[in-house]
Amino acid sequence: MSDLFRGARVIMGKLLQAGHQAYLVGGCVRDYLLNREIGDIDIATSARPEEVRSLFSKTIPVGIEHGTVIVRMEHVSYEVTTFRKEGTYTDRRHPSSVEYIDSLVEDLSRRDFTINAIAMDEDGNLHDPFGGRQHLKEKKIKTVGAAEKRFMEDPLRIMRALRFWSVLGFTLEAETEKACTALADQLKAIAVERIAMEFIKLLRGVEAPSCLKFIFKSELVFSLPELHRYKNSANSLYGVQWTGLEHDEERWAALLFVLGVEDSAAFLKAWKQSNALIRSVQQLIGYLGKDELARMDLYDLGEEQAVSCQRVMNVIKGKPVGEMLTLVQKRFRELPIHQRKQLAINGKDVVKDNERMKGPWIQEMLRKIEQAVVEGEVINEKSAIMEWVRSWKEK
Ligand code: ATP
Ligand code: MG
Repeated sequence: MSDLFRGARVIMGKLLQAGHQAYLVGGCVRDYLLNREIGDIDIATSARPEEVRSLFSKTIPVGIEHGTVIVRMEHVSYEVTTFRKEGTYTDRRHPSSVEYIDSLVEDLSRRDFTINAIAMDEDGNLHDPFGGRQHLKEKKIKTVGAAEKRFMEDPLRIMRALRFWSVLGFTLEAETEKACTALADQLKAIAVERIAMEFIKLLRGVEAPSCLKFIFKSELVFSLPELHRYKNSANSLYGVQWTGLEHDEERWAALLFVLGVEDSAAFLKAWKQSNALIRSVQQLIGYLGKDELARMDLYDLGEEQAVSCQRVMNVIKGKPVGEMLTLVQKRFRELPIHQRKQLAINGKDVVKDNERMKGPWIQEMLRKIEQAVVEGEVINEKSAIMEWVRSWKEK
C-alpha cells in the first residue's frame, strides 16, 4: 500500500480495534489501482458518526448529516463516512434521508460508477462487488446498476460521468452513454455551482475535446448554461490542447474566446462564477486576439497574468507552450518598472511642474509617463522625465 495511506491505516486500525469495519473507498482506491496521483482519502466505516468522533482527538463534523466526519492525522484530512443507504431523492440534489447500515456492499451499491465502488481493507484486499476492476482494465465508466435509474436519482452523475471520461481518458459504457443524453434534461434541476465544478474539472482532462463534442452534439448542450447559443462555433473547441492550460481562469478564457462570447460577464454569471474569476477572465480575453503581448501589455497584466495570457494564446493557436513562457517572463522582468509607484516622479511633482489645479489630467499624464518609461522612450529619472514631459507638451 502506498505511503499516502499510512495515516489512513492508523485510522482504520483504530476503528477495527473498536469492533467496527473500515475500508478505503472511492477515488483513492480507483486512483491507486490506476497508478495515478491520489487526491483526498475517503474511508467508509460501520461506525456511526458519533462513534468516529469519540475515537479520535481531532475531528471536524463537516457533513455529519450525511454521516461524514473529517479525522485529522499528521496534518492530513481523512473523510470518514458511515456506511449508508440513501432514501428517496425529493429535491434531486440530496437524498431526503440518510439511513446508516452495516453492510459494505450496500454502501458500495449507492455509489455512482463501478470504478468508484471498490473498497480496500487495511491489508490491501479489494472488495469489488460490481466489477470495478474489470472496468478499470477496460477503461469504461459504467454506473452501478441501471444507468437511467441512477441518473434519475441524482442527475449530477451525468456530469460526473463526463468528468471521469475526460480526466481518466476512459470511454462511457453504452448504456451509461445513452442515459447521459436521454436524461440530459434532468440536469436542469441541479444547482449550477455543482455542475460548474464538474464542468471545469472536465476541461482539465485529456479527453476534454471529445467530451465537449459530445456535449455540443447532444441534448446536453441545452441543459448547461449559455452553451447552446454557440453551437456554430463549437467546432473550434475540439482542436484546443486543453491540458496545456494550468488555471481555471485560463480554461474559461480559452472557452469563451474560442466560442466568440461577447458578454463574458453575463456568460460567467450564468455559470455562477465569482466576481474575482470573472474580472480575471475578462482581462485575459482582452488580450487574446493579439499576435504578441507588447511591453505595455506585460506591464498592465503583471507577470503571473501575462504568463497565463501567453499560455492561452499559444494553446488556442496550437503552439507549444514552454519556450514562449520563459520569454514572456524574461521580457516582463526586463521592463524598467513594474508598478506605477516605481516611477521616479509622482502626482505632486507633475502638479508642481505644470502649475495647474489638481484634476483628472494628473492621472492621464502619469499614464503617459508610465507608458514612455515602460516602452523605453525615457529613462526612469526625475529630471529626464520632466524634460520629456516639457518637450512632449510643446509638440
Ligand atoms: P476525485 O476526488 O478525484 O474528484 P472521487 O471519485 O473521489 O474523485 P468524490 O466527489 O470525492 O469523487 O466522491 C467520493 C466517492 O463518493 C466517489 O468515488 C463515489 O464513490 C461517491 N460519490 C460521490 N458523488 C456521488 C454521487 N453524486 N452519487 C453517487 N456516489 C457518489
Ligand atoms: Mg475524492
